[in-house]
Amino acid sequence: MSDSPWMRLEEWFRYANDLELGQFYLDRRVTIEVKVRGEERVSQAAIAPPSMAASTRTIAPAPAAAKSAAGVSVTPPGAAAVASAALKPKYTPMSPSKSVLKAPLPVINLPAAPGFSLFDEAPIIENDSLEKIREDIGECTRCKLHKGRNNLVFGSGSSKAELVFIGEGPGRDEDAQGLPFVGRSGKLLTAMIEGMGLKREQVYICNVVKCRPPDNRTPEKDEVATCSPFLLRQIRVIAPKAIVCLGAVAAQALLATNQSVSRYRGEWLDFLGTKLMVTYHPAYLLRNPSAKGEVWKDLQKVMAELGLKKKMSGPR
Ligand code: URA
Repeated sequence: MSDSPWMRLEEWFRYANDLELGQFYLDRRVTIEVKVRGEERVSQAAIAPPSMAASTRTIAPAPAAAKSAAGVSVTPPGAAAVASAALKPKYTPMSPSKSVLKAPLPVINLPAAPGFSLFDEAPIIENDSLEKIREDIGECTRCKLHKGRNNLVFGSGSSKAELVFIGEGPGRDEDAQGLPFVGRSGKLLTAMIEGMGLKREQVYICNVVKCRPPDNRTPEKDEVATCSPFLLRQIRVIAPKAIVCLGAVAAQALLATNQSVSRYRGEWLDFLGTKLMVTYHPAYLLRNPSAKGEVWKDLQKVMAELGLKKKMSGPR
């Protein structure tokens, strides 16, 4: 039994979390959720049965996301106009086997971050492929990050991966080699992947921005916005079963929010019909090794989703 007041408080929070009491303290609004797949339309109150509430949450993206996402449309209360936009999806749905029409889910309304373009600027490209995306990026000079790069870091792994990891942006080692996550953080990420019983080549690894920000600073909004359409195309081509966002930059770019990661880390969220989990960035784990246990719990949820065998302990 823990005796410090702080540990007892932490235990209480964990217990309350297990009971999902946190839901009642979040800023919730009753919403109507409209889901579209081809001609199929469902419109229901978005109060999920308890079993669903425990498994997946949809984070309401920026309004632009609501109109773009076939199968993942989310309507803020009273926004009939947005609902009707949701019925006219701008983008082609993912393949039916992977874009699952789910039962209604509770919606956490997060404040949208202004200026994100991930959903707006990536038209569907017929017969798209990773090779074509790479070709389209070319010797990119679309944003200022190109000035300092040695190599553009497109991504690596299997185009048929069931699992995609998305980081922030290349660091020094990645910039030198043109490959994602090959430095210290990368070694830890590789250990995490192998701890899940997978090989690096079986998953796909990429970043929100494809060129190294100077001194590894956080990518700026315009840089994220410029690179995001290519990331969205990569995700669509791979059509994974699950996405893991490593850290705040990836999470906030995909979820179109500037809400703190602590609010939704470790929970299943929804990204355009694909399950999305946010966990800590390996660089954070290098600075805070005690958080590894939390990440391992998150990854075990991912393993369960992918049907991978459960392991007793995670990577060291
Ligand atoms: N950190 C990232 O976010 N991505 C990399 O590729 C390497 C370090």
